[in-house]
Amino acid sequence: MANGKKRTVAVGVDLGGTTFSVGLVAPGGELIAEQSHDTPRSDDEPLALAAAASAVGGLMEQAAIKPDQLLGVGLGIPGPVDPAAGIIRRAPNLPELDGVNAVEAMAEEIDAPVHIANDAYCATLAELRWGAGRDVENLVMFTLGTGVGGGIALDNEVRRGPHGIMGEVGHIIVEPGGRRCGCGNHGCLEAMVGRDGMVDRAIRLMEQGRTSVLSERGGRRHEKLSPKMIADAAHEGDQVALEVMATSGHYLGVALCSCIVLADPDLIVLGGGIAAAGDVLFEPIRRTVRHRSLISGFDVDRIVPAELGNQAGMFGAAALVFDAIQ
Ligand SMILES: [Zn+2]
Repeated sequence: MANGKKRTVAVGVDLGGTTFSVGLVAPGGELIAEQSHDTPRSDDEPLALAAAASAVGGLMEQAAIKPDQLLGVGLGIPGPVDPAAGIIRRAPNLPELDGVNAVEAMAEEIDAPVHIANDAYCATLAELRWGAGRDVENLVMFTLGTGVGGGIALDNEVRRGPHGIMGEVGHIIVEPGGRRCGCGNHGCLEAMVGRDGMVDRAIRLMEQGRTSVLSERGGRRHEKLSPKMIADAAHEGDQVALEVMATSGHYLGVALCSCIVLADPDLIVLGGGIAAAGDVLFEPIRRTVRHRSLISGFDVDRIVPAELGNQAGMFGAAALVFDAIQ
């Protein structure tokens, strides 16, 4: 690098299957500029990476940042990666990127170091550096959405473990013999409280004859219901929705108890769409942890919502750059 002092800003890219976002971030975590784009698709070409690289250039131009001010680019990938080699191992929603060396693909257009990481890793790193966990060094993060992701930070670093599996909290078994999980196992947290698990539970209760506002809004059709609709109905006092949230909160609480004795965290951070449901979810989670983590005496007020929302992946990707120069 010609002049280290001039290089001060980082770009974070959060790559998703339908859209991607790019953000220009200062060392303190201040967002200078941000853009969002559709992710271009191809059967066999890594178009998404080319689009990301050109979006980085466009964003810098928009913010009047010169190429020699850029410290580096971080890229969050929706799937497992080999960060040291820069290779995307597998991207279920972007299979044309499987096995692609993302660092090489981006380096053709970007004259600065490129770093990659899994998107859940990025979200955890963002909350650790600039979000709910900025005052602690040890946390467990759960990202609740269609699936359940997460990460574990110890001694101010997000850890993946020697085999890259550490922090895969969605596959903690919370109900042996329960719903089948995408990983092939049964009863994983993701199978029980991911989108499909929540929606199926609501439908089952309605099929048992329970009345619910959900029957007018989504009926018993799996594809029409969503965790957000269930959370909204719970806020309105709908008993079926409240029961679904209570069961989800219970399973999450059980998983949190395991994390507490494994990682001894200062804080547990819950992110992703459904974490915004508030007390209807947090109350059963806290109740379960209060009753079932007696050995730790974990203060349930240390179970908190994430702060960076859907920008966490982008901020975390930028944080990869700043971490790399520490
Ligand atoms: Zn699983």
